[in-house]
Parts: sequence; structure tokens; C-alpha cells
Amino acid sequence: MVLWMPGPASYTGEDLAELHLHGGRAVLSAVTSALLSLGARPAEPGEFTRRAFLAGRMDLLEAEAIADLVSAETEAQRRQALRQMSGGLSGRLDGWADRLKRSLAFQEALIDFPDEDVPPSIEAALLAELQALADEIETQIARAPEAERVRQGIVVTIIGAPNVGKSSLLNALAGREVAIVDAFPGTTRDALEVRIDLGGVPVTLIDTAGLRETDDPVEAEGVRRARARAGSADLVVCVADARAPEIFPGASLILANKIDLAPAPAGTLGISVLTGDGMRDFEDRLCSEVARLTSSGADPVFTRARHSAAARDAVDALHHAQACVLPELRGENLRLALQSLARITGTVDVEAILDEVFTTFCIGK
Ligand code: GDP
Repeated sequence: MVLWMPGPASYTGEDLAELHLHGGRAVLSAVTSALLSLGARPAEPGEFTRRAFLAGRMDLLEAEAIADLVSAETEAQRRQALRQMSGGLSGRLDGWADRLKRSLAFQEALIDFPDEDVPPSIEAALLAELQALADEIETQIARAPEAERVRQGIVVTIIGAPNVGKSSLLNALAGREVAIVDAFPGTTRDALEVRIDLGGVPVTLIDTAGLRETDDPVEAEGVRRARARAGSADLVVCVADARAPEIFPGASLILANKIDLAPAPAGTLGISVLTGDGMRDFEDRLCSEVARLTSSGADPVFTRARHSAAARDAVDALHHAQACVLPELRGENLRLALQSLARITGTVDVEAILDEVFTTFCIGK
């Protein structure tokens, strides 16, 4: 079946044809060879969306959102990508840009009519507006890690002494046998990872090697890696044996496992992986911790490090503008701030950031 989509209302704005074929490899490769011999070539990663962007069919935020949507694994990722794709984020940025343009216009007026009697209240209002803009953008920069966690997933490390039941816990959470559970201490020599979906957020659980001093070089390496992973995790869960709890510092949640053998000490959350006792409470706690890490209310504006970096430049330029005594210099800093914001949606300075954005696409889309 051939679908013909004439421009300019197609995805890229150009004339587009789509061939729908039966899925067998031989059919696909025969048709591909025929097309190649006629002069076609395979698309580069992200090439269709790049063309759509260059034709003005979408801005950069929307293009990135398409990449996110294609690779979304969980509901929260899908929702975040859709929100960005429908232009909600671009709207916030456009709003800031409009206010900045108005301030710039005021500033130009101050430059053009230096000898007229411009009331000092005008300049005071201008400076207050710059401060308000910088504050609003700064608030959103602070929230960027939440959106980044939804995109990249949250890392939860499980630490604790050997044989307390870390591997058993990981297996129980993953619902399948991932880690080897053994009655001998020191069976988990390397960090083991499993990805689960917690309330729509992708979570990578890492079971670490029993954190203990050891002479075995292989086990020592496992311990070193475990410490490194735990150090960079979003959340650290420490598992202890309820009978003789050994608590490691730095944990955000302390579990006392094996409450079928002894009661949980005060200050710990008692569970028994064996009987399932307390597991519901633990999963609820984990879910609310994950929710806390990924959302603090309204939708975040920035979803990538690229956005926050450009926004940081804009805030710096705004602060410089506030500190400027010379009106011309202040105007220049306002222009810089405007340019930094425009880099996020891709309305200026485009070539430099295009590759960064489109190479993250892994397929022709
Ligand atoms: P790890 O070294 O911390 O990963 O511990 P494992 O998950 O390998 O478990 C060590 C031993 O404790 C195994 O024999 C498990 O069957 C046992 N175990 C795990 N959870 C429980 C529990 O809740 N109750 C009891 N009685 N034994 C448990």
C-alpha cells in the first residue's frame, strides 16, 4: 500500500510517500534495494524530524518531545513527552521572551531619550521586572532535575551487610529471579540491575555486593562499585537483619528484614521478604519517595540539561543587566538573555545545537 502525503501539510512539509509492506525480511530488503538502485538513500538518525524543524513545522522543544515519545517506556514518560509536544513548554518560554522584549523596548526608550524627563519610577519598574523574570526562570531551573529523572529514570540502590536479604528483596520487587539468592555471605559480587515501573516512573534497582571489608580482590572490586553506585543514586535503601541490625550511613530508607525471626527495631521499617509481611508498606513508601523526586506540583518547563544550561545563561545575563549602569550595556545584556531563551526553542543560533538534538534519535524518525 502506498500512502501519498503532499506538502506542505506533511510531517516534514515536503511531499512524502509511505510504503506499507508485509513484514518479512526478504520483502523489505528487495524493496529497499529497488529504492536504493533508483537513487534513494536511508535517512540519517532524526532526519525526518530535523527537516520538519527546518521547514518550520515545529520548534526544537517539540522535536525533542517526539524523540522522548518514541522512546517512552512508562506512563509518566509518555505524559511528559506529550505535554512538551503539544507546545505547553514553548508557551511558557514565549511568555518570558515577550516580557523580555517589552523590557528591552523600555530600555531602548531610556537610551533614545536620555535628556527627556523619564520618571525614575520607569527605571525602577524595569529593574523589578528583570528581577521577577530571573526569579521565575531560576525556579524552573531548580525543578529541571525532576523532569530529567522522569526521562532518565530513578536509580535506587539497595545496600546492607552480606546475607541480610538484599538479593531476595530485589527479586521480590522485580517479580522474577534476577539476583542469585544464596545462604552463603558474599554471593553477589557485582552490582545487579533491574528496571521496574513504579507509579509510571522508570526505576532502576541496584543490588550491591555485601558492603564489608574483604581480602578477596574480586569481591573488593564489587564493594568498590557498590559504594560508587550508591553515591550517585537518587535513593538509597539500607537493608538490615532484624536480629542484628547493622545500619550504613547515607540511606534514605532503612528496612529491617526477616521480621519472621525477630521484631523490627525502632526507627526501621520491618519487612519479611520470605513471608511478604510489610512489603506492601515498603512499596507504598518507595512509590511516594519516587513521586516526591519526580514532581513538586505544576509541570516543569525544562526537561533536559540543554534547556537548563541555556536558561542559566539567560538568568546570568538578566543579573548582569540589573547591575549595569550604562543603559547601552544593559540593553546588550537583555538581548543576550533573549537569545539564550530563544536557543531553547531553536529560534536563533540554530546550527550549533541541531546536531546535539537530532543525533539522540536512533531511527529514521
Ligand atoms: P544478600 O546477601 O543480602 O543479597 O541476601 P540474600 O537475598 O542472598 O539472602 C540471604 C539469606 O537470607 C537467604 O538464605 C534467604 O533465603 C534468607 N532470607 C531473605 N529474606 C528473608 C526473610 O524475610 N526471612 C528469613 N527467615 N530469611 C530470609
